[in-house]
Amino acid sequence: MTKKIKNILDIYPEYEANIGIEVHTQLKTKSKIFCSCPNQFGSQPNKNICPTCAGYPGVLPNLNRRVVDSAITLGLATKSQIARVSEFARKHYMYPDLPKNFQITQDEKPICTEGYILIELNDATEKQIRLVRIHIEEDAGKNLHIGDNESYVDLNRAGTPLLEIVSHPDMTNAYEAKTYLMNLRAIVQYLDISDANMEEGSFRADVNVSVKKKGAEELGTKVEVKNINSFKFISQAINYEIERQIHLVEENTPVTQETRTWDEKYHKTVFMRTKEEAFDYRYFSEPDLPIIVTDDEWVDRLRKTLPELPHQKYHRFQHDYELSPYEANILVNHPNLSAFFEATTNLCKYPKQVCNWILRNLLAYLNEHKLELHECKIRPETLSELIIEIEKEIITSKTAQEIFLEMAHTGKYPSIIVQEQSLKQISSKEELEPIIAEIIENNSQQVEAYKQGNERLFTFFIGQTMKVTKGKGNPKVIKELLEKYLR
Ligand SMILES: [Zn+2]
Repeated sequence: MTKKIKNILDIYPEYEANIGIEVHTQLKTKSKIFCSCPNQFGSQPNKNICPTCAGYPGVLPNLNRRVVDSAITLGLATKSQIARVSEFARKHYMYPDLPKNFQITQDEKPICTEGYILIELNDATEKQIRLVRIHIEEDAGKNLHIGDNESYVDLNRAGTPLLEIVSHPDMTNAYEAKTYLMNLRAIVQYLDISDANMEEGSFRADVNVSVKKKGAEELGTKVEVKNINSFKFISQAINYEIERQIHLVEENTPVTQETRTWDEKYHKTVFMRTKEEAFDYRYFSEPDLPIIVTDDEWVDRLRKTLPELPHQKYHRFQHDYELSPYEANILVNHPNLSAFFEATTNLCKYPKQVCNWILRNLLAYLNEHKLELHECKIRPETLSELIIEIEKEIITSKTAQEIFLEMAHTGKYPSIIVQEQSLKQISSKEELEPIIAEIIENNSQQVEAYKQGNERLFTFFIGQTMKVTKGKGNPKVIKELLEKYLR
């Protein structure tokens, strides 16, 4: 029911929602956070482990400096305060994938606080989503369940460095939440500190949702929704949860603070467990790691490495290339795509056309063939040449569609494809005139009807000419000739 609705609150105007998001993003450092094991995805189970990340008693963690660098970099990119002194803590819980029975994380003294992320709203205004904190922690291993009675523990992931980014409940609907997540993902990708791939689990979002009557001061009871592992489902999960809670409130049933999970198959959130309180975890300072002390020199050195960030690029693309906010947004959300766009535009100087080809053809092609940009054979060199050939009227835009597919399959330059398949546009009147004369002769009925005033038949004649020329006829010249012949 809620599937096609963009904002469920449009149906319940007397309610409002508050959404806060916790994101865990895996850092792509070479080694793990507290040992020198490779930080690698997809290895054979329990291949990348040592006594430290497998939690043997008596071992000591050794902090990977790159992890702290990444945290500070993300803090700078989100305008956070970088703590002068920050420290690690132990968070206790028992689970087979956590052999030490505690996770090393940060509690009272996180590395970054009070940052924010800007999101673009539909009315082209911008909204600040405040961050409570960004902190460093280690990931746990993974339990694998096979069939009903076989379970395994794979500790390869144990000790993978994570940044946890916690927002205030500043988002008020599914659209804002999704935009926030896309912007945050783009930032970590631009900083090149994480692959931030939701499907592979390197970017995981837990969404806290609460509802209240419009204007009420106190926030409603929040429910956490875990395991939304695709951007496709975020809006659905949030809309579902908002509506579920509104129904409870309407029935005077109290909303209970709990953790729910998103069921992809049935498109609903289902109960997982009651929510633990912080004191359940018995946090205390980690005695085996030194405190982290930052200074201006360290922070400034990292500040100098900051690349152009998505939000800056979003504005620059609109300003420099006259793209619409919508177009700029799509390109900017994917660092590879925006780099591809700029490289192609630099080669052919037709930014609007490049943007159209990327948004309409390239993305559709990648989607259809389930490819990533780097797996596709279209390159800035070939796409820019294609656009130049259209602009110079060497090929028709119809032929260009076919050439594009051939480029995508073979990686060939359009000029080569045009030559091989003689796809050059036919612009010469000498060549087109006899073709048109024949079409006029063979369709006397339509010619008569056209002359009687059925002007829509003009497209019929264009279509016939295109058919004979196999789409290669220059539309401008054809139109000119037809006008002459049908006068
Ligand atoms: Zn290890």
